[in-house]
Amino acid sequence: MTRVAIIGAGISGLSAAYAIEQGAAQAGLEVEVVVLEKENRLGGKIWSIQEEGYLCEWGPNGFLDNKPMTLDLCDRLGIRDRLLRSNDNARKRFIYAGGELHRLPENGPSFLKSNLISWPGKLRLAYEMLVPANTGAADETLADFGRRRLGSEALDRLIAPMVAGIFAGDPETMSLKSCFPRIYQLEREYGGLIKAMVKLARKKRADRKAGKVVSSAAGPGGILTSFQNGIQELAGGTAAGLSSEVRTGVSVAGINAVDGGYQLLLDSGETLDADVVLSAAPAHALAGMLEGIDASMAETLRDIPYAPMNVVCFGYEKAKIARNLDGFGYLIPKKEGKGILGTLWDSSIFPNRAPEGHVLLRSMMGGATNPAAIDLSDDEVKARVMADLKEIMGIDVEPDFVRIFRHQRAIPQYTVGHGKRLLALDEQLCAHPGLFLTGNSYFGVGLNDCVNSSNQIAERVIAYLKTPQG
Ligand SMILES: Cc1cc2nc3c(=O)[nH]c(=O)nc-3n(C[C@H](O)[C@H](O)[C@H](O)COP(=O)(O)OP(=O)(O)OC[C@H]3O[C@@H](n4cnc5c(N)ncnc54)[C@H](O)[C@@H]3O)c2cc1C
Repeated sequence: MTRVAIIGAGISGLSAAYAIEQGAAQAGLEVEVVVLEKENRLGGKIWSIQEEGYLCEWGPNGFLDNKPMTLDLCDRLGIRDRLLRSNDNARKRFIYAGGELHRLPENGPSFLKSNLISWPGKLRLAYEMLVPANTGAADETLADFGRRRLGSEALDRLIAPMVAGIFAGDPETMSLKSCFPRIYQLEREYGGLIKAMVKLARKKRADRKAGKVVSSAAGPGGILTSFQNGIQELAGGTAAGLSSEVRTGVSVAGINAVDGGYQLLLDSGETLDADVVLSAAPAHALAGMLEGIDASMAETLRDIPYAPMNVVCFGYEKAKIARNLDGFGYLIPKKEGKGILGTLWDSSIFPNRAPEGHVLLRSMMGGATNPAAIDLSDDEVKARVMADLKEIMGIDVEPDFVRIFRHQRAIPQYTVGHGKRLLALDEQLCAHPGLFLTGNSYFGVGLNDCVNSSNQIAERVIAYLKTPQG
């Protein structure tokens, strides 16, 4: 029987295991899948922690339903009926700028009324229609793209907070092409973003008239979706759907090439032979494992940087908070000079996140623009978050519940040159038949992107297993 070893049991590793099992069964292949996970729990960045009646998400708090990958996985696993869609509050997103919270406009009229962007800034945005399209294939930072097409104000108040919210990233270093390939493509295809919006809206109307099915997702962002007991149910549900062996507390220290396959060196000193190895571990972790067989590939992997982040959960008695908490929360542009990247009003988005009569706020701190925050003591972290919440939301009472989670390497940064690094990895992998990569280090950090990459790599693994080797 052929053995496939998967390193890492985050959503990428678990969904890849599932897709390989399904693909092998369909192809009539006898495959044994073994998943090896360093930690004593499954899920990687996914971890829903229940304490004192609060449900704190260590990492992600959901996935968006405007892409089908995670929903499809839930369908196949038979757990779609357990999904919980965020309530209407999630549509109300705010940006903190110039000393106040501004609701992020959802449409043209609300954009015109909003004070988030000044009139000169709005006119500059409208001028986007006349900015000549960049048709070359060169990589460009998100900041350069923003300044070029939309103006500095839109960069500071719209793009930078969005990049902080998704990647905890710095737009001055992040690659447009790798972070937002769709936007990169729209400029090339339609000549600009406003032109693209107009043409796509026209096409949607025509499709609807012609009776074609048109995506019903609310807005471009989709609806944040999770489970009653937190996003951990996604990892747990995927693991429960596997017939593979999932071994936790097993760290892979090295990968050696042996005749016709690989030998994994485990931290315990044991070894495990496999015909195919699929790494779903972060790039930096895989770099350490490959040092012995391919130092240059290890170097390419190490060139993918990561941003650190503190996730800070504060619970309060609802009666102590004067402010209306109907909303998703807010992001803060870097220019505002605050200690935090933003705060999510978790208990307003999903039920069951705080005990009756209480609320849960989750603030993000650090990221690529403030990496030193990871070294602050717990007391300093708490004090800075409290100071920001006081200034931004007027909360000047001690939280009743505090949890601080630290991610030394929270989110991979697709900086300019990321595309070239991926091409180099592709070439380097040619020297290692039977070695495959998935995970958030390469083609997207959202849960949907991770599931998508794992589905695609599973197809390649099955194709490889179907081809006689030798
Ligand atoms: C704070 C935060 C908030 C986020 N919010 C959202 C959100 O709301 N929505 C969204 O879609 N995405 C969000 N993301 C992004 C998303 O959570 C991640 O991109 C995704 O979970 C990564 O999954 P993965 O399986 O690729 O990697 P990981 O979850 O990092 O899994 C990799 C696994 O490999 C294991 N591993 C490492 N080294 C070894 C080794 N040597 N041997 C064996 N195992 C090893 C690790 O222990 C880990 O379990 C967030 C991320 C963070 C950090």
